[in-house]
Amino acid sequence: MVFTCAQCGQCCMYLGDYIVIDAKTGPYTFSCSCVSTNTLFQAVVDEDKRNFFDNTEFSRAHPNACPFLRPTDDGRIVCTIHETSPAQCKIYRCVAVRIFSGEKQIGYITGMGALHSDDPSLRSLYESCTSHMPEQDEERDEWLARLFEKHGYRTE
Ligand code: SF4
Ligand code: SF4
Repeated sequence: MVFTCAQCGQCCMYLGDYIVIDAKTGPYTFSCSCVSTNTLFQAVVDEDKRNFFDNTEFSRAHPNACPFLRPTDDGRIVCTIHETSPAQCKIYRCVAVRIFSGEKQIGYITGMGALHSDDPSLRSLYESCTSHMPEQDEERDEWLARLFEKHGYRTE
């Protein structure tokens, strides 16, 4: 299963309290803290995104967003420190498995294995099996996809 990030920026819109700039150390370099893991990291704004980073209007309009999130000129909202971002940012996937009933998407599993769905039957199926779910990400994605397909759903 291949996850393609749409670069919509939604996952980073409320991470301003978690990715914190402690000090500016150069024109495009910063000492930072990742509050959720209690770790420090050095951020360097990617060379090809410095013109986007210079647009500080976005941060002012979205004070809860990660301070490194910026819009591009082609409609994406991107991480401007992709090369030096913390490890958990690099592995994050908002969607691991999409679940369909016929042609309609009725839910999805996040990269952390959580179900997002308003469908009561799907939710009850998921809840009935969470205690057997594998812990490893890839194994878990495949396992859940097989489970949903066995019960008549389609997955992508
Ligand atoms: S991981 Fe998901 S929410 Fe985050 S930018 Fe990519 S598509 Fe958007
Ligand atoms: S460092 Fe990049 S990926 Fe991580 S929260 Fe900020 S904008 Fe998102």
